[in-house]
Amino acid sequence: RKKHLKKPDWLKIRLPGGKNYTRVKEIVEGNHLHTICSSGNCPNMGECWNAGTATFMILGDICTRSCRFCATKTGRPYFADPLEPRRVAESIRLMKLKHCVITSVDRDDLPDGGAAHWAETIRQVRTINPGVTIEVLIPDFSGNLKDVDKVIAEKPDIISHNLETVRRLTPLIRSAALYDRSLEVLKHIADSKTAAKSGIMAGIGETGAEVLETMDDLLSAGVSIMTIGQYLQPTRAHLPVEEYITPEIFEKYRIAGIEKGFRHIESRPLVRSSYHAEKHVL
Ligand code: SF4
Ligand code: SF4
Repeated sequence: RKKHLKKPDWLKIRLPGGKNYTRVKEIVEGNHLHTICSSGNCPNMGECWNAGTATFMILGDICTRSCRFCATKTGRPYFADPLEPRRVAESIRLMKLKHCVITSVDRDDLPDGGAAHWAETIRQVRTINPGVTIEVLIPDFSGNLKDVDKVIAEKPDIISHNLETVRRLTPLIRSAALYDRSLEVLKHIADSKTAAKSGIMAGIGETGAEVLETMDDLLSAGVSIMTIGQYLQPTRAHLPVEEYITPEIFEKYRIAGIEKGFRHIESRPLVRSSYHAEKHVL
């Protein structure tokens, strides 16, 4: 039986608005870009877009996978638009960003999972925006480390790949992705001396002990930055929220993470993978 828990006060957010928000929205829409902020119904849109930060989603807005927590459309994607890297780079210039986050849908339909398109996007962003720092939130490329290498070779400042949840719940909520394969991808990134980052959602049914185990697994893989935020159900058709984790518990996770050795950890109810991302650059 599906539960519908009442949302606690600490998750109430202001509706997005404001001058900068409108400006960013116009740039994003005018350039036919997809942001995870809007397609993922991110609760921080008001704050981030007003601060001039957005997370761009490349390789279209249709994903070949269908994770039970994710609001992104699933289906057969279009071809990878060769002009998209340039448009993302131009938008970052127009938005005058100092730090940008780029992510993509999973493209299991492409032979390289979209790795060449990823590399081209990073190159274009750097060419048009010298000095900008770049975080890329990548898919697992089906565990194909040669494809991950194509992204590493472009030297983004941070490469993140989300575990999304603890080991036990991974098969329940992630489609196609495997906990250990994601850890392998993260280890490969960290071994290349690139800052590696990962995140999980809380409130899916995980125990505190499992969250701490996940931290240990990430640290063993060499991951130095972690995010933890409350899972919110995007629509009634998605995985229901099992529990609203209190801000106090999130703070306990943050302190535990710092004590265990993460260089940076964001752990609060409304934290998303790309929230305060600019603060994670060394
Ligand atoms: Fe966008 Fe990330 Fe901010 Fe959400 S937290 S609005 S996805 S930049
Ligand atoms: Fe969403 Fe990523 Fe899963 Fe695709 S692979 S459905 S974009 S979480």
